[in-house]
Amino acid sequence: IYSNTVRRLENSLREMANIDPLTGICNRRKMHQILKNSLEVKENHPYRAVIAMMDVDFFKKVNDTYGHDAGDEVLLALAHLLFEKQNNTDGFYVSRWGGEEFLVFYEKYKHSKDEIKQYFEDLRKEIQDMVVKVNNKELQITITMGLAFYEDGESIHNLIKVADDNLYEGKKTGRNRVIS
Ligand code: GH3
Ligand code: MG
Ligand code: MG
Repeated sequence: IYSNTVRRLENSLREMANIDPLTGICNRRKMHQILKNSLEVKENHPYRAVIAMMDVDFFKKVNDTYGHDAGDEVLLALAHLLFEKQNNTDGFYVSRWGGEEFLVFYEKYKHSKDEIKQYFEDLRKEIQDMVVKVNNKELQITITMGLAFYEDGESIHNLIKVADDNLYEGKKTGRNRVIS
């Protein structure tokens, strides 16, 4: 009994350390592990991988206008949409990176770079069309994405920096867009 209890506690601690409590998807810590494992092992050749740093546009305004709980509902709906993609797409992983930021990792795909750009462009549109019903109101958001295609030997740190820089560029040039 004792060892079962300890095992159960260990499992729930491990889960708490890896899961974002609001949305139930992976947190930043877990995504770091996923990236590290994948980029160090690289089973498929040629190995293709991309990350997309996503940030909700003008999210502060959603909170200020409709309240923090409504903002939470929007984040949940977005996480849910992304999690569906993870379930339906091999090599697609999603995490909540921070407040209203999500990091997607897509690896071992067969597409060209242009096809991947189109894929994320379609995802951006899908999010733009998503309607979140909160307190009889229909909320809609847009997101800006910065992409970074993995180059052989590149560090995770650098990969994330490229995505961050592209996200920043997207914010600066009008938001609701994908920059690569
Ligand atoms: P930008 O288009 O430049 O990204 O503008 P923004 O308003 O989205 O960016 P800013 O960084 O100014 O605001 C982010 C807001 O996200 C502020 C913070 O209160 C809110 N936020 C962060 N985490 C949560 C959360 O878990 N729930 C809710 N409701 N809001 C959150
Ligand atoms: Mg942000
Ligand atoms: Mg934002």
